[in-house]
Amino acid sequence: MSYILGTYLRSVKENFVKGKGSYLYTDKGEKYLDFVQGIAVNALGHNHEHLVKTMKNQADKPWHLSNLFLIQEQEKFAKRLCEFTKFDFVGFQNSGAEATELSIKAAVKYFYSIGKPEKNRILCIDSSFHGRTIATISAGNNPKHIEGFPNLPNFDHFDFGNHDQLKERITDKTCAILIEPILGESGIKVIPDHCLKGLRELCDEKNILLICDEIQCGYYRSGKFFAYQYADIKPDIVPFAKAVAGGYPSGGCLFVKKVAAGMKIGTHGSTFAGSPMAMGLANAVLDIMLKPGFEEHILEVSKYFFDKLNEIKNKFPKAIKEIRGKGLMIGIQFFEEPSKFLKEFYNNKLITVKASDNVIRIFPPLNVSKEEIDEGTNIIIKTLQK
Ligand SMILES: *Cc1c(COP(=O)(O)O)cnc(C)c1O
Repeated sequence: MSYILGTYLRSVKENFVKGKGSYLYTDKGEKYLDFVQGIAVNALGHNHEHLVKTMKNQADKPWHLSNLFLIQEQEKFAKRLCEFTKFDFVGFQNSGAEATELSIKAAVKYFYSIGKPEKNRILCIDSSFHGRTIATISAGNNPKHIEGFPNLPNFDHFDFGNHDQLKERITDKTCAILIEPILGESGIKVIPDHCLKGLRELCDEKNILLICDEIQCGYYRSGKFFAYQYADIKPDIVPFAKAVAGGYPSGGCLFVKKVAAGMKIGTHGSTFAGSPMAMGLANAVLDIMLKPGFEEHILEVSKYFFDKLNEIKNKFPKAIKEIRGKGLMIGIQFFEEPSKFLKEFYNNKLITVKASDNVIRIFPPLNVSKEEIDEGTNIIIKTLQK
């Protein structure tokens, strides 16, 4: 009997007491290959040396100051992130849902502030994922997430890949289109580069803001810092979170200047967002990610991983339908509901996670080695052979 609110299906009963890189260890000393990493959160693996050191240093400094005060680590991280991503401003949050909420608020507020308050509707992909708050479940419109909860009126939806419907659902009231460049929870669905380009052009033509939710696919998960970069476009607002502080809660939104201008003093706030600890760790993550060779490593091991998985798909054509994704954001789509495969991978000490559309997701740490990938693919082969 647990006193914890029963909102999670917690099938894993092991007690993980130690983590190191790609591995988790139980209280009984058993070792698991963790290719979930907190669902794309621990981008540098468990307990990365530089992050542990940063956290210990940060522990001796003030833990909390409130955003009414100057937070040195926040200023430093904001400058680095904006300069690197070529955005003008960043606002901080504690989580992904909060980050998308801020992107929605800023988009609506922008048109309000330029005298177009009627432009206040957000167009999203049906059954996508942007978080679990009331606004973000309304944006995602996944029946499983929204059933029985208030559904906010300001959201319209189109089906993934349905260009005609997308154009049809745009009205004079549409202020923003909100998409994940690679849909995560919905089953690692990649929006093709030419579609992202087309979306950007459509937004420009109709005076609509483009919001790219990079919470899961961002931070090099796709192989580029942000997944939209593959299409050579620039969104107006980019919510990010998950991997930002390497496992510590943090998130935020990047803005182009004109949108940021609508968010004046008092229009938004957060008690904890951008705390010294979160920002210290966010800087530490950038220290590692911005070193030469980080991106090259991901692209190299990604190709290695995809080649191996496609070989496995060819070996088991009755089980596996498709291998999809980009970088180290990988989906294995099965023909049938894949729970039994997930369970067997786990029994063989490989941790993976499900998504919609019969997909099992694989999120190794971004610094994963080829040997660890071999270990993972060997477990997948061993499982499927049975
Ligand atoms: C995880 C996720 C969110 C929500 O993040 P939380 O930190 O759980 O609130 C939003 N959008 C996408 C694309 C995500 O993957």
